[in-house]
Amino acid sequence: MTTPGTDAFPTQARAVVIGGGIVGVSVAYHLARRGWTDTVLLERNQLTSGTTWHAAGLVTKLRATYNMTMLAAYAEELFRAVETETGMSTGFRTTGSILVARTEERWAEVQRGMSMARVCGFEVEQIGADEAKRMWPLMDASNIVGAAYLPADGVANPIDTTQAIARAFRNRRGRILEHTPVTDVLTREGRVSGVRTEQGDIACDVVVNCAGMWARELGRKSGVDIPLHAAEHFYLITEPVPGLSSDLPVLRCPDDTAYMREDAGKIMVGFFEPGAKPWGIDGIPDDFAFGRLPEDWDHLAPYIEMAARRLPLLRDVGIKLFFNGPESFTPDDRYILGEAPNLGGYFVAAGFNSVGFQSGGGAGRAVADWIVDGHPPMDLSEVDIRRFMPFQANRRYLRERTTEVLGLLYDMHWPFRQVETARGVRRSPVHDRLIGAGAVFGEVAGWERANWFATIGVEPRYEYSYGRQNWFGCSAEEHRAVREAVGIFDQSSFGKLLVQGRDAEQVLGRICANDVAVAPGRLVYTQWLNERGGIEADVTVTRLDELRFLVVSAAADQVRDRVWLERHIPAGAQCTVTDLTSGLAVINVQGPAARTLLARLSPDDLSNEAFPFGASHEIEVGLARVRASRVTYVGELGWELYIPTEMAAHVYDELMAASDGLGLRHAGYHALNSLRIEKAYRHMGHDITDEDDPLAAGLAFAVAWDKPGGFIGKDALERRREAGLGRRLVTFALDDPEPLLYHSEPIWRDGRLVGKTTSGWYGHTLGRAIGLGYVDAGEPGGATREWLLGATYEIEVATQRVPATPTLRPPYDPRGERIRI
Ligand SMILES: Cc1cc2nc3c(=O)[nH]c(=O)nc-3n(C[C@H](O)[C@H](O)[C@H](O)COP(=O)(O)OP(=O)(O)OC[C@H]3O[C@@H](n4cnc5c(N)ncnc54)[C@H](O)[C@@H]3O)c2cc1C
Repeated sequence: MTTPGTDAFPTQARAVVIGGGIVGVSVAYHLARRGWTDTVLLERNQLTSGTTWHAAGLVTKLRATYNMTMLAAYAEELFRAVETETGMSTGFRTTGSILVARTEERWAEVQRGMSMARVCGFEVEQIGADEAKRMWPLMDASNIVGAAYLPADGVANPIDTTQAIARAFRNRRGRILEHTPVTDVLTREGRVSGVRTEQGDIACDVVVNCAGMWARELGRKSGVDIPLHAAEHFYLITEPVPGLSSDLPVLRCPDDTAYMREDAGKIMVGFFEPGAKPWGIDGIPDDFAFGRLPEDWDHLAPYIEMAARRLPLLRDVGIKLFFNGPESFTPDDRYILGEAPNLGGYFVAAGFNSVGFQSGGGAGRAVADWIVDGHPPMDLSEVDIRRFMPFQANRRYLRERTTEVLGLLYDMHWPFRQVETARGVRRSPVHDRLIGAGAVFGEVAGWERANWFATIGVEPRYEYSYGRQNWFGCSAEEHRAVREAVGIFDQSSFGKLLVQGRDAEQVLGRICANDVAVAPGRLVYTQWLNERGGIEADVTVTRLDELRFLVVSAAADQVRDRVWLERHIPAGAQCTVTDLTSGLAVINVQGPAARTLLARLSPDDLSNEAFPFGASHEIEVGLARVRASRVTYVGELGWELYIPTEMAAHVYDELMAASDGLGLRHAGYHALNSLRIEKAYRHMGHDITDEDDPLAAGLAFAVAWDKPGGFIGKDALERRREAGLGRRLVTFALDDPEPLLYHSEPIWRDGRLVGKTTSGWYGHTLGRAIGLGYVDAGEPGGATREWLLGATYEIEVATQRVPATPTLRPPYDPRGERIRI
């Protein structure tokens, strides 16, 4: 047993946290705060010796999304709490920060960020170049288009903060052992059973890998994929600058790829340059502690020059320190939290992409809550380890991607921006044919997916903007073809799981909120709920025969949905899950002419009577046999064709060859998005998450309340039904056809802030932007239809409020007549 207050090496603990950086101490402290005082933290060297000791100490609250902002915003509360608990200083000071924009496009981005800050409840002030210059007199503000001032941001001392949190953990009977590397994680029957160190083993139920840039290699020993890679990360510290005020706000100049702050009478200038330098390619040395990497003036020269244009004083003042230290980066610039998909009790909190000091407090608390409660405390899907595919831990993939990721924090966060490195890993069998048709691809979970098709005269590459991008017109034509003729989508990236066995119906019956005990050949749209009634998955389930079901989910959810299924198969049940994603390509034929097109290639009866909406049958297409499912995510007549991978090119060629006179067009994911938003079809991960239930999401039609055996989450859902809705997803159409919606725009009801959009895009048929978002009445039962619709709404776009019309029905074809023709 762990014996607090003694020096004996512990042989048992409830949880072992590996790594004594800011993240590890935060996880351990929060576990102790939740009553898990029998927690041991093991540190290979000394606390902070990895990356934390040299963090620049910026505590910036506003992040890309609401929940990530909430986690970062918690840092200040934590720092103040441990100061009170321990009497130790974290060095936290509220300095405020200024964010300056040098271009109109950046200014549009900053203004959208200011609107999001309002949703998060932060004070944010729009200031002009003059005011920014008054606050930071040393800066050249002559080319600044606009600036935002965030008074609540601050700085702290990373070493002092980590030590204070560590002390607070020890005060709660937690134990920290330094100079104790974990050499292995022990497992038994698919679960963690302990850790191995040179001093001995410690038996435990839970391990949390907070090993920073060592986390990937440590995970690999246990078969856990943790896709992160280290990169060199730089800042300079000048010689003392006489008269420099210690009250200077942090100055962030993303267009100059630099930030600047006062640091003990000197100026610190940090960089987020494009074309970063991956480090530790052959693994991170075991003995790397409080380590620095060599200076690289050549690499940084252009960025120093840019910073010096902003801060001319840099040309004259000497550089006291050129600091280069490694930090971990992940393929999508988002950190990694949660339980490993393939090893129970193995949690991860790593890969912090240069925001770990400010995010470690909130992330540590979230992971501790997740461990204690058995589920995340909020929607953490954007950082959930289950978003990754195993191949993403491939070292070359990580190395190549890392060159791009470091710079992303200060790069333009363009809507629809696609990664540029390590592309082309997962391709559909018709990939090359789509290139021939002008496809421009985006990437999701490694899949190359056609987002739009360039028409003659349009360059097949993205030209980004916050306004209408170069593909807007091409996508509009694809959209119109699907509404008026027929469009063909390659959706081979769908996750596809075969669930089969004597107990498959029963198992899926418990997991699905809808009734899947249907006749073979029927397809059911359903959510999977957790015990709290929150939505864990949004899938279709097709009954293939008595014993076999096909579950189809979005590409991003392939791992997550498989894990959820596997974990909810009761012991002893005869039910297996097989991932068929790679075995089946999907070509989706949608539009009023879809039947005519398919009928030219298939002798099977595709009439509405023989093949109604929701039916799924094997049919012949050309020389192949495919599964055709009559279903739609665009609101038109259509079939998803599930095709053995090796026959996909043949089926595609047949479709193209048979399309004469039908107005067939290739259509991409951007058109899919504009089509689905006009139908208010929900998007998993945005409009529906584990924080939302089917009642609030307007998906009660997919809940089979009375089916025998019930379903997971039913009790919670019934309680909410009885209490009445406190919030509800509403669809909005902007009255002004010009502005565009993306997500996280504030929703104002009769002049009061009541929510934010969860997704938004332009509806080409409706000729205006459409947004979905939850409207919060503030109390159960308040979100009645009358209350929701009987008010005046505005959506705030880049600080400007735009009148919007609410509806609870799809704005396009509200009665769904077009899908049943
Ligand atoms: C130059 C620079 C400036 C930065 N500035 C900021 C900033 O201003 N604001 C901000 O928010 N972030 C900043 N960051 C990022 C921030 O420093 C990191 O995200 C954060 O420190 C990561 O913390 P961590 O606990 O995950 O990793 P680490 O601090 O590296 O901790 C991991 C620990 O695990 C230990 N360990 C590894 N393997 C084992 C093992 N097998 N057994 C036991 N222990 C093990 C290591 O010794 C290490 O101490 C900056 C980073 C750099 C490089």
